[in-house]
Amino acid sequence: MADGRRQSSRELWERAQLSLAGGVSHDARFMPPYPIYCDRALGARKWDVEGREYIDYAMGSAAMMLGHSHPDVVAAITDQVTKGTFFATVHPLEIEWAELIQSLVPSVERVRFVASGTEATMLALRVARAYSKRNKVIRFEGHFHGWHDYGVQGMKAPYSKLPTLGVPDVIAETMVVTSVDAEKVEDILKKDHDVGAIICEASGANWGSVPIKDQFLRDLRLLADRYGCVLIFDEVITGFRWSPGGKQGLLGIKPDLTAMAKVVAGGLPGGALGGSAEIMKLLDPQRVVDGYQPPVIHRGTFNGSPLIAAGAIAALKVIKTGEPHRQANKIAALVRSELQRILDEKQVDALVYGESSTFHVYFNEGARKGRIEDISPESVRRLKRDTLDIYRGGLRKRGVDFMSYTGGMTSLAHTEQDVPPTLEAFAGAVDDLIAAGKVARL
Ligand code: PMP
Repeated sequence: MADGRRQSSRELWERAQLSLAGGVSHDARFMPPYPIYCDRALGARKWDVEGREYIDYAMGSAAMMLGHSHPDVVAAITDQVTKGTFFATVHPLEIEWAELIQSLVPSVERVRFVASGTEATMLALRVARAYSKRNKVIRFEGHFHGWHDYGVQGMKAPYSKLPTLGVPDVIAETMVVTSVDAEKVEDILKKDHDVGAIICEASGANWGSVPIKDQFLRDLRLLADRYGCVLIFDEVITGFRWSPGGKQGLLGIKPDLTAMAKVVAGGLPGGALGGSAEIMKLLDPQRVVDGYQPPVIHRGTFNGSPLIAAGAIAALKVIKTGEPHRQANKIAALVRSELQRILDEKQVDALVYGESSTFHVYFNEGARKGRIEDISPESVRRLKRDTLDIYRGGLRKRGVDFMSYTGGMTSLAHTEQDVPPTLEAFAGAVDDLIAAGKVARL
């Protein structure tokens, strides 16, 4: 500002609307009455422009498994910046980065870098269609695979209808949306011989807010093999977080293709598609298949950028030790049990759950007595927008930020010391919900 004073979040929001479409760069970053503007983060904390400190459980939309500004990542990108950030040539760091991914993720024999999670699933679908020579893909209700044309159909109810303007029906019709039910998947595969791939969020919908059974993922592997389909795990969230080898590393299931982003890029903008050598050779620029060279086109200026590669290599070396998972999982387990205790004490009908370094709070009548299997994408979304705003706003004004909806993520940087202030903020936010009559009581 001209007078040198820092602008408040409210002032920035008013200014943003005059230059940014809708005032934001991502739909979900808006929060009424206006979003908070942050300008600094370190470890498990972040600060808004007014100097307020937050214990962060959004952790870069799950990208920051090591915490904000991990010293190894900072050192690696600082060093790289002085050597050049982009050469428009191949370079040694992309090989080292791919080798690390290969060594960590069991199914990955070959890697192709992309610039985001959306690009990773988009490329996965193109490669899967090219390999199977079939057009259609099975996907699951409420699962999120990014915002490209093939990703949006099915991401929210009603699943028979496109959730956005601007996507042609012919594209949506190639995505067969079904529920998490192996029998239904098999029925579709028996009847529709144009289905060549299955894509699934390895955690279940929305980073596990609707949990998925391990057996379902095993069933998908069997069904994909039986019907000659390409099985794609979307490990954009679970990759390198559920274990150093992702969800597949934990369960010992090998998908054919794996979409990765967030932690794979050290929390920086980047992503990757990994898969079997047999399928990934469709991306070989020297190969010709049916007259197409390369068989599958893939470009992207910043794919495998040296700057991101440097940070990602530093991060994956820490991931490889398993220490981030031990620490983040321990704190998340503590947060889960303490949040449930608070809700029970306040006699609020809500269930706390989550795997690995995540926690979800499910507010719903009957939730405490219900079964985790009863949770569906629709029941999770039943919480009204105004209830969510009271809840997230209540947390934020007490110095805690969650990832989305109702839950959050921990990282290597979270410690036991973060838990008591988190619980205090949570208890206050729940009191706000009770006072507003927004939650069911036991
Ligand atoms: N898949 C999943 C499971 C995701 O959670 C996300 C983003 N949160 C994406 C894909 C898209 O990734 P990006 O935002 O990097 O495009």
